[in-house]
Amino acid sequence: MELTGRPAVCRIPALWCRRRAAARFFDPNREEKRMPVPKRRTSKARKGKRRSHHALVPVRTVVCKHCGHATLSHTVCGNCGWYRDRQVVAIEEEE
Ligand SMILES: [Zn+2]
Repeated sequence: MELTGRPAVCRIPALWCRRRAAARFFDPNREEKRMPVPKRRTSKARKGKRRSHHALVPVRTVVCKHCGHATLSHTVCGNCGWYRDRQVVAIEEEE
């Protein structure tokens, strides 16, 4: 093999190159279909639009009026078992 002239390497990054991605899975003796390869790379705008829904939001908590423990709103306090202004769930005392 001669190494004259420009090497026959495509300049497209390997991740985006359809031809190389397809060649990796190409085998003439194989009966199965080749792996599907995206026709175009995903643009920054499209990627950003897709990921606009990926943000995590913190869980909203309220302070229990009985014990001051942080609890979910509209939920019995897991620390003291009170809801609104009365005991709803009996909490066993641990030693
Ligand atoms: Zn409480």
